[in-house]
Amino acid sequence: MLEEDLEVAIKVVVVGNGAVGKSSMIQRYCKGIFTKEYKKTIGVDFLEKQICHNENDVRLMLWDTAGQEEFDSITKAYYRGAQACVLAFSTTDRDSFEAIEKWKSKVEEEVGPNIPLVLVQNKIDLLEQAVVEQEEAENLAKKLKLRFYRTSVKEDLNVTEVFQYLTEKHVQKT
Ligand code: GDP
Repeated sequence: MLEEDLEVAIKVVVVGNGAVGKSSMIQRYCKGIFTKEYKKTIGVDFLEKQICHNENDVRLMLWDTAGQEEFDSITKAYYRGAQACVLAFSTTDRDSFEAIEKWKSKVEEEVGPNIPLVLVQNKIDLLEQAVVEQEEAENLAKKLKLRFYRTSVKEDLNVTEVFQYLTEKHVQKT
C-alpha cells in the first residue's frame, strides 16, 4: 500500500444557528486567526488542517455552512460523507441553545445515527451577557449523551480540544 493511502481524512461539519461563531471557529483552528468583523461566509466550502494523531497524519476538512443556516436551506452536499459534527450555540443567544436538539436530529437524519458529535458553547468570554446557564448546558449534554466543551474562539479557549476529541472518536470507530 502506498504511504499516502494511510492518511486519514475526516470531513467535519459545523452546524448551529447563524452568528454563534462557526466560521470563526473554523478560521481560528485552521488559520490561527480571529476577526471581529461579522462575515456570513468564508467563501469556500471547507478549510483544512493537517494534524498528527497517534503518529498518523490526519487531515481534517472543516465544512462551513457559508451562511445557509436557514435550517432547511443547507444542501445535501454539505452533509454528504460527514464523519464528525460540531453542534454549536452561543452563550449570548438563547435561541441558538434551544435549537441544538433540532440540529442534532437534522444531522442524524442526513448522515446517520452513529456520527460522532460534540456540543459546543461558544463565546464564553462574554459571560456578562450570558443568557444560557452553564448548568442547563451541561444538563442538555447529559440528556443528549454528548461530550460538552465551552469555548471562546476569540480567546482561543478549548477550540483545539473540540477537534482533538472528534478525531479521537472517529479513529476509535474505524
Ligand atoms: P457563524 O455565523 O456561526 O459562522 O458566526 P461567525 O463566525 O461569523 O461569528 C459571528 C460573530 O461572533 C463575529 O462577529 C465573530 O467575530 C463573533 N465571535 C465568534 N466567536 C466569538 C467568541 O468566542 N467570542 C466573542 N466575543 N465573539 C465571537
